Amino acid sequence: MAKPVVAIVGRPNVGKSTFFNRIAGKRISIVEDTPGVTRDRIYADAEWLNHKFTLIDTGGMEPDSKDIILSQMRNQVYMALDTADVILFIVDGRTGLVAQDEEVANILRRTGKPVILVVNKVDNRDLPDSFYDFYQLGMGEPFAISSTNALGLGDLLDEAVANFPKDKDLDYDDDQIKVAVIGKPNAGKSSIINKILGEERVIVSDIAGTTRDAIDTPFTHGDDEYVLIDTAGIRRKSKVNENIEKYSVIRALSAIERADVCLTMIDATEGVTEQDKKVAGYAHEEGKGSIIVVNKWDLVEKDTHTMSEFTKMIRSELAFMSYAPIIFVSALTGQRINKLLELIKFVSNQHSMRIPTGRLNDVINEAILLNQPPSDKGKRLRIYYATQASVRPPKIVIFINDKELAHFSYSRYLENKIRETFGFEGTPISILYRERD
Ligand code: GDP
Ligand code: GDP
Repeated sequence: MAKPVVAIVGRPNVGKSTFFNRIAGKRISIVEDTPGVTRDRIYADAEWLNHKFTLIDTGGMEPDSKDIILSQMRNQVYMALDTADVILFIVDGRTGLVAQDEEVANILRRTGKPVILVVNKVDNRDLPDSFYDFYQLGMGEPFAISSTNALGLGDLLDEAVANFPKDKDLDYDDDQIKVAVIGKPNAGKSSIINKILGEERVIVSDIAGTTRDAIDTPFTHGDDEYVLIDTAGIRRKSKVNENIEKYSVIRALSAIERADVCLTMIDATEGVTEQDKKVAGYAHEEGKGSIIVVNKWDLVEKDTHTMSEFTKMIRSELAFMSYAPIIFVSALTGQRINKLLELIKFVSNQHSMRIPTGRLNDVINEAILLNQPPSDKGKRLRIYYATQASVRPPKIVIFINDKELAHFSYSRYLENKIRETFGFEGTPISILYRERD
């Protein structure tokens, strides 16, 4: 299930980032504890009355320059239109209505997306006279807020939530393997999608697209049903967005959230980029199955060591994802595309594998015998038993005497032992501790 996306659009200095920080609060840097992963401040996970959403400050994507304000705004607007479910169009209540606001309103009005007009910097309860000018924009009743004084935010967020699309909850049946293809522009995402869909044994289902602009492509291969997530977003390339890397990250985040298995596409001619780390890190954080797909393998000059050297490099760059299988493909020649399909199915199975409690405890007990749990100040960690609480991703709950004693290194040790026996290839495993007397 994807979170709705709320985009903030408006001229410089109307208070977009002030508003963003106010709403996003402290939730901005949620992925910072994953090594090699950072998150930009332009998007954040936010929540209002149990509705989770992603907030994007489109203004934060562009360098500041007074001369190109209008073209910047156009870009912001187009990005927002492509990605957002609800658009917050922020104007400045102190300055009043200006011509640029009208230009933006004209574009926004033609999109069909819900737009909420927000008059910021109304710092007290009295509406300034200029407030009424904003009705001229033809965007309905404006919401008066003060980002600095936190006034009017609740009403505004209520309205935003009321406009969230209902079909974001659209769920596919559980037998379908949902696959997201992620990676930087030009990595070969659309090429590989086309290659997969062009495979002889692949039958693309004929399903009418919904009204949403993010269209997924279901297909079958052998007895298995798959869905490629957000293929429309990848295949259709609008000129405006093509060059904007950050935009493609945001799009990827929402695809990742809906996927079971993520294919992180690495361009073999470029190696692992910062953006690759970011999206792969997000897939990891979200507990998704992952495959690292090294594309354009046809362009690489090879000798006997090339593949193992590449593997080593990727393992060190994407160290947090050591469980993910690596496959070397060419979307151009079709090399190993069939194998990729098999690998997707395999990882999906691993991701949804459930270990019987008895077998899990046999493995844990054996691990404890081989390597005693740590102790601290004379108190030893005692492990009573373990059970797998859920799948996709596998979550293992271990009942112990004292959480303080359950150090990371011992968790890592147990995880490795579990993987040695059961595999869980391509999927992160989360281990949780519960105290019990
Ligand atoms: P952005 O360029 O649209 O992201 O605008 P900023 O968030 O950087 O804000 C521009 C200026 O407006 C800053 O000096 C803010 O402190 C100020 N500002 C933002 N929101 C408000 C508000 O609600 N009331 C007042 N009085 N000033 C605000
Ligand atoms: P996207 O932006 O990630 O969707 O990337 P595209 O699929 O549009 O590919 C970008 C460029 O790389 C295009 O010119 C493709 O023809 C080329 N390309 C993609 N995959 C391969 C490959 O496996 N080998 C070679 N030689 N070129 C490729």
